[in-house]
Amino acid sequence: MKEFVFKKKYGQNFLTDKNLLASICSDAGIESSDEVLEIGAGMGALTKPLCERAKKVVSYEIDTELEQYLQSLNCDNLILHFEDALKKDLAEIEKDFSGEYKLVANLPYYITSPLIFKFLSSKKISSLTVMVQKEVGERITAKVGDKEYGLLSVSCAFFGAAKIMRKVPRSMFKPQPEVDSCIVKIEVEKNKFSVSEEAFFKVVKAAFKSRRKTLLNNLSEGLNASKSAFDGFIQDLSKRAEMLSVQDFVSLTKQLQERGLV
Ligand code: SAM
Repeated sequence: MKEFVFKKKYGQNFLTDKNLLASICSDAGIESSDEVLEIGAGMGALTKPLCERAKKVVSYEIDTELEQYLQSLNCDNLILHFEDALKKDLAEIEKDFSGEYKLVANLPYYITSPLIFKFLSSKKISSLTVMVQKEVGERITAKVGDKEYGLLSVSCAFFGAAKIMRKVPRSMFKPQPEVDSCIVKIEVEKNKFSVSEEAFFKVVKAAFKSRRKTLLNNLSEGLNASKSAFDGFIQDLSKRAEMLSVQDFVSLTKQLQERGLV
């Protein structure tokens, strides 16, 4: 095989440490009956231990130059797709699974948030165990009152419970990135809140639009309503979005729906 040249544009920072790779599998709680989706297989460092533990592994890799390495893994329970997982329709991706599945990935940093959002809204996913930049992990798991708390924290809390499973120093990757990482696990809780997902995200996105503005200003701008339309709300709309918990956003969404504002 000719020597592989890492492509920065695809976020190619590979893992080799067998103990770390085994720990990622145990963080994900992979069992022999599990179906697993891996995004960004690389040379297969994580793919292989996943195949050894799971019933079935479906791996996506955008870089066709890596095909020779992945095909040589010779795993009978592995389905490989050389495609862009972000562009591929979610329903198409899920055709490979007979029921629920777990996402496990050392994610390429340049598409971390859109990938997480894409899979969080799935009705078939049960958990996401992903390597992300340390700061992103802190934002995902932040609680109201933490300085990292924001749109990403609220969005993840809407779908489930997020936890940092382990810190991973930059020295564990080849080539070494300029940032440290961590493994975050999001256990998906289906129908956690009885509110329309579409309405909730319209409200949350409008609320966080401009961090320096109050909820009242952001909501009236984002939802195209006059400020007087928000008179008599239970929530104190002179607050800023980062002062509201996910539960507060759920009640706010319900009130806005009752008034026909969202
Ligand atoms: N899993 C391997 C490991 O841990 O050593 C590689 C992880 S590396 C951080 C991310 C991988 O994702 C790279 O191999 C890259 O080519 C691939 N990738 C980047 N963008 C992708 C996309 N949109 N769809 C699928 N794979 C992608």
